[in-house]
Amino acid sequence: MSEHKKRKLETEIIHAGYHPDPVARSVSPPIFQTSTFAFESAEQGAALFSGQEKGFIYTRLGNPTILALEEALAALEKGYGALATATGMAAVSTIYLAFLEKEAHLIGTAALYGPSRTIIETEFVRFGVEADFIDTSDTAEIKKRIKKNTRLLFIESPANPTMAITDLKACAGLAREHNLLLVVDNTFASPVLQNPLEFGADVVMHSLTKFINGHSDVVGGAIISRSQELHKRLQKVLRLHGGTMDPHQAWLVLRGLRTLHLRVERAQENARKIAAWLEARPEVAWVNYPGLKSHPQHELMTRQMTGPGSMLSFGLKGGYEAGLKMINRVKLCTLAVSLGGIETLIQHPASMTHASVPREEKEKAGITDDLIRLSVGCENVEDLIEDLEQALRES
Ligand SMILES: *Cc1c(COP(=O)(O)O)cnc(C)c1O
Repeated sequence: MSEHKKRKLETEIIHAGYHPDPVARSVSPPIFQTSTFAFESAEQGAALFSGQEKGFIYTRLGNPTILALEEALAALEKGYGALATATGMAAVSTIYLAFLEKEAHLIGTAALYGPSRTIIETEFVRFGVEADFIDTSDTAEIKKRIKKNTRLLFIESPANPTMAITDLKACAGLAREHNLLLVVDNTFASPVLQNPLEFGADVVMHSLTKFINGHSDVVGGAIISRSQELHKRLQKVLRLHGGTMDPHQAWLVLRGLRTLHLRVERAQENARKIAAWLEARPEVAWVNYPGLKSHPQHELMTRQMTGPGSMLSFGLKGGYEAGLKMINRVKLCTLAVSLGGIETLIQHPASMTHASVPREEKEKAGITDDLIRLSVGCENVEDLIEDLEQALRES
């Protein structure tokens, strides 16, 4: 990202999507806590429904507080438009429902967020949908799996929890050549570190629950599209299936979003130090962090991201047993799933977030039993290292 773009983004994070309301001039956006909106006349009601006039009708179809968040997200991801959803999974299911017809085929990242994969393997299979979940950091392998009925290339980069990085530009090239849609789950990077639409992706999605809200107190999701056509298609499916956000939730997420760059930069600075410290410890067998030279796609990360972020995973020489002892001994880090909040969280994906993925598939995706995932927060880094050190010493 150029200096100019970074500058623009930092100001947009604070201001995009909101202009003081004309009635009270409130600096913080009002929460339009209403399910429905009054029409001025029967004629106006009809004009709103036919689309001749722009305005609000009913909150499942649109609401000013939700729209403020959507406009901010569209600006940060440089899309045509954004849709806010009840959860990240509502965003995932809306994308699948919008673009996968009966007997369609999907190619996805093997280490995809557990439920994004499980919903295909246990629910969409009922409609004959097929999928190949593979190591998408290997572009040649993606190409080999493309079939006549392939509709979607669904990428998570960096992937959870292995931090494997997929070449977004190469995927966009393959998608164009084979007439597929490239969807990128950008939750781990956030728009501060990566803008997939700029590399040719068609649709970007987020679990707002993570970095964008950033305070571990709300769930939410978003879908940002490259074009009006894609946006309209997704909007139709979202409104019909009803996975929309509510106004209070939108206000909370917008409040969290306003400090996104400050939190991401601080957590990343902490993560860089922790990753280097872990890598030098005798108890540690390996560390997966895109900011380390030892990461297999370190160079690719520098080409498509502005920084490696604050998510990392590692394994101990003592394997699974030692790892469990360690995560039971931390005092400052919290043992919890989820990520991207201001507090540091530690978890064991094989038995927690990815428990629903079959064992063999987990191994293929690099989710080994010894893997510990750390979502580094914004605390003082010396305190975090001290906590990890006392937990390691005992394990
Ligand atoms: C959490 C998460 C999701 C799902 O989001 P929810 O808000 O929990 O529904 C999807 N993708 C990634 C990468 C996630 O971390």
